[in-house]
Amino acid sequence: MSTKEQVRIPNPREIVDRNFQIAADRLGLTADEQVLLKAPFRELKVEVPVRMDDGALRVFSGYRVQHSGARGPAKGGIRYHPSVDIDEVRSLAEAMTWKTALANVPFGGAKGGVNCDPPQMSQEEVERVTRKFISRIHHILGPYRDIPAPDVNTNAQVMAWVLDEYSSRHGYSPACVTGKPIELGGSLGRAQATGRGVMFVIREYIRDVGRPMKGLRAVVQGFGNVGSNTALLLEEQGCEIYAVADVYGGIISANGQPLPMGDLVAHVKKTGSVIMFPGTEHIDNQDLLLLDCDVLVPAAMEGVLHEDNAARVKAKIIAEAANLPTTPEADEIFAERGIAVLPDILTNVGGVIVSYFEWAQNLQQSFWAEEKVNEELYRYIAAAYQDVASLASTEKIAFKRAAYQLAVERVARAERLRGL
Ligand code: NAD
Repeated sequence: MSTKEQVRIPNPREIVDRNFQIAADRLGLTADEQVLLKAPFRELKVEVPVRMDDGALRVFSGYRVQHSGARGPAKGGIRYHPSVDIDEVRSLAEAMTWKTALANVPFGGAKGGVNCDPPQMSQEEVERVTRKFISRIHHILGPYRDIPAPDVNTNAQVMAWVLDEYSSRHGYSPACVTGKPIELGGSLGRAQATGRGVMFVIREYIRDVGRPMKGLRAVVQGFGNVGSNTALLLEEQGCEIYAVADVYGGIISANGQPLPMGDLVAHVKKTGSVIMFPGTEHIDNQDLLLLDCDVLVPAAMEGVLHEDNAARVKAKIIAEAANLPTTPEADEIFAERGIAVLPDILTNVGGVIVSYFEWAQNLQQSFWAEEKVNEELYRYIAAAYQDVASLASTEKIAFKRAAYQLAVERVARAERLRGL
């Protein structure tokens, strides 16, 4: 099949369901336990009517799904993207349940989203969407109930509006949302936390296989919060990034030299995209995933590595910075081909770990130095990595199976202790 041909991008639900089922079967969970673990605790859909800058009224759909609160308040990002629907939000909420369990932070899983398209909207329109959305879901949020954070197309500014809307009804409550600006109770290190975690997980794995980080050739798909920070931190470790892509297209080094990440980040700040970066050539987004490299970092959307392209991927390691970027079929192909997949619920867990630190700092009205945040982040990630790596090695299973097995087992234990 030509790389340009249209492929069926799997629904994230199929990916989450299969990953859960494999873990549930390995753990021997009863049918009742499986139903209890799978069914979302609460789902809310709201209409989000917004007056656009041109005077037209648009009615978006907004969702918040709280999948589980067994191990603590529900926790998960808010995504703004045209593809957002209940199924996607439900799947991502469930993935958060497994991720917080694997990270061993005292949270459950949630996710929210609105089907709007910020790259096509003004800042004022994004603010109006955010305020209207929060005005309609605030009653199910709260520091001990459900704590949102940034995700695709949302950032610290959006979280500031979330805080403002929530606090205007419930009193000043910095712990009701994480990923906030520092001035409003955000944590130092939160903006880079997911990317830093991705770098830590790659570094732990590379150390385990006895290779140096220096000279490791990497390719990154997605150059937003997660992709750009991962790329910057990998470069700091001596890795060489040859190609990156965002929603507007991909670029690859034209002269065989690694791309300078600091300059690329400045270019993106100025132009809004990686494209047209000096010293690069255009590469199709699909072809970028097939480049020969040591580490491929999918850091954009789910389902990008699937049964139609997995056999042609040439990377030796796939570090899943995005949520659910690899389908179960692709996982099997990668396992057969000896390609290591560092699973999303481990690899991109840094954001929720530092969100936990931010929440704890807000509740205690304390403020940590960035050094302490990064040290503690490493401690949590290294522990989660170790748990996954040792289970994978003793049971001779892929990292992803080990990660889901550990996570599902932890939530199942909490559910059993709480009772029905
Ligand atoms: P972001 O909005 O900051 O960046 C997304 C990037 O992906 C942008 O560069 C965008 O142009 C690019 N992109 C979108 N569609 C694309 C496509 N079809 N092809 C190529 N590039 C495309 O979002 P983010 O916060 O960096 O999140 C990226 C991924 O990481 C998502 O899967 C998200 O759920 C996951 N994640 C984010 C966090 C976090 O803390 N922000 C934490 C854990 C997981």
